[in-house]
Amino acid sequence: MTRISRRKFSVLAGSLAGGILVSGVPLALARAPSFQEGKKLGVALVGLGSYSTYQLAPALQKTKYCHLAGIVTGTPAKADKWMRQYGITQDHVYNYENFDQIASDDAIDIVYVVLPNSMHAEFSIRAARAGKHVICEKPMALNVAECDAIIEACKSAGVRLGMGYRLQSEPYTREVKRLVREKTFGEVRFVSAAAAYISRGNPNQWRLNKALSGGGALMNMGVYSIQSCIYGCGKNPVSVSAQEFSTRPAYFKQTDETITAQFTFPGGTVGQMMTSHNASANRLYASCDRGWFELKPANNYGPLSGRSSEGPIAFPHDSQQKLQMDDFARHILEGAPNRAPGEMGRRDMVIVEAIYRSIREGGRSIPVELSVGYGFGG
Ligand code: NAD
Repeated sequence: MTRISRRKFSVLAGSLAGGILVSGVPLALARAPSFQEGKKLGVALVGLGSYSTYQLAPALQKTKYCHLAGIVTGTPAKADKWMRQYGITQDHVYNYENFDQIASDDAIDIVYVVLPNSMHAEFSIRAARAGKHVICEKPMALNVAECDAIIEACKSAGVRLGMGYRLQSEPYTREVKRLVREKTFGEVRFVSAAAAYISRGNPNQWRLNKALSGGGALMNMGVYSIQSCIYGCGKNPVSVSAQEFSTRPAYFKQTDETITAQFTFPGGTVGQMMTSHNASANRLYASCDRGWFELKPANNYGPLSGRSSEGPIAFPHDSQQKLQMDDFARHILEGAPNRAPGEMGRRDMVIVEAIYRSIREGGRSIPVELSVGYGFGG
């Protein structure tokens, strides 16, 4: 049997204790060194590509409840640069081979998986088995079976699982959720979402390689379109029909270029989405019984912008990644809602699979098998 680290033991003890509280604090957390000492939770970023470099690491310099405590990279030169830039010492630097040793690193509470999509399941599962809470980037994995394996690994290790869905913590998106929940404009009858950008870069990049990405636009910006349609009406779809368009097959050899899809939702709401690697689009629009609302842009790093039939929607801008990681840390520390749980990532993958199936079957309507309210998060 492998040695159980102090940190791992505290997590397992907490899960076995089934929610026992010490002075209002979950037992696992009361024992966790970071919490006892009033320190921020330590985050290790796995994969130091563009999202980690230009968004997550800078955001972790501004977070209140967590901080950058470690890195996992296959490139020693990157490790040296990050250690200098962020004051990380060698004992919190890992590569993909020795990653499992992170289990005995008490400075790391959360592992954030920021790798190509095909590596999300492996590293999320290894992180959970090391006793670390997990944030997994979108899309959660290559398919629903992998999502199930991640969720199961986190459950059995007694660790929390969150998706890298930054918009779930972002104020314009939260305002849309409020308008829908409180029926400010009555019932949403029609929702439309588009999330797309033009890809012209390196034809050998992993996003164009099906084995590494699992798919094209749909497995990238498509996830935002799906999410927008769902929070734009507050329901999970019951069926979807989809179409694929290809105009640059020499560049998009293995992966989808443009996809459109139409949803039906319970209660007669209908929706449509578009995603593409060959067009620019960034919008959410909903038409309701007594008005409408729109976010445009709806899914970039911000500032977003919004309006409704009653006037502008406006919030001060803040780093979405900062808000997202602090929300997840507060979920761990204080039991705050998990805004983007693993079940939400899995739900979106059920829909992705239904969309690809509809395309394979000539645009036929495919039922989306989800229970009501499944995967909505906090
Ligand atoms: P990237 O290509 O810039 O970085 C990928 C990293 O993975 C690099 O450090 C690379 O060295 C490493 N890697 C390890 N094995 C690799 C392999 N076999 N092939 C290629 N790279 C390998 O990608 P990125 O834009 O940082 O995206 C990483 C993940 O983050 C993806 O899942 C993506 O969908 C997600 N992402 C999310 C957002 C968001 O807004 N939530 C934004 C960008 C990216």
